[in-house]
Amino acid sequence: MSTRRNSRHRRCPRCRIHEMYCFCVHIKPMEVQSTVSLIVHVRELKLTSNTAAFIKEMMPATTHFDVRGRMNEPLQIPPILERPGRPFFLYPDENAVELNDEFKAKNPGPYHLIVPDGNWHQARKVHQREPLLTPIQTVKIPAGITGEYQLRRAPQPQYVSTYEAVAHALGVLEGTHVRDELMAFFRIFVKSVLHSRVRFHDELELGE
Ligand SMILES: [Zn+2]
Repeated sequence: MSTRRNSRHRRCPRCRIHEMYCFCVHIKPMEVQSTVSLIVHVRELKLTSNTAAFIKEMMPATTHFDVRGRMNEPLQIPPILERPGRPFFLYPDENAVELNDEFKAKNPGPYHLIVPDGNWHQARKVHQREPLLTPIQTVKIPAGITGEYQLRRAPQPQYVSTYEAVAHALGVLEGTHVRDELMAFFRIFVKSVLHSRVRFHDELELGE
């Protein structure tokens, strides 16, 4: 279909969706105390279904992107660890401590959340394979939160997207207003991409 082909060239360069469904107007940058370092695989950067980019859009002053998987340009861990805040690695492995009031009392902020992006298997490997990251305590979002992300399949309902994990983590560390604002934008993002997919059938380009 020619309309499908043509539609590919009318994408918003920022939110990367077809311009008809552009939701950039809803990006309202916030200021938070916590530093967020996103360790993103180079292949993920190109996908419109990748949620990490919107964490940076929503909290541009305190969010960092660290790309792994680039040829001849290995991920440098020391500069990540120099960023402000007490570092924690957001990944629900068997040693992960739940983020809650008790955690905050024991570990006063400000915080530095180091967050692996990509699929679950890749995310786990980042913590296990980087010797400087391995000693950093893993943390997880409170139990009972289910993912609202319908653009990729999750192995289990409690496996949430990177964006949601950060939103819920900051909901504990910073306050529920931060989570609520981040999630309000997230729901608009998901709805817009779903509408675009229905109309333009472009799952392949959006990738998985
Ligand atoms: Zn846009």
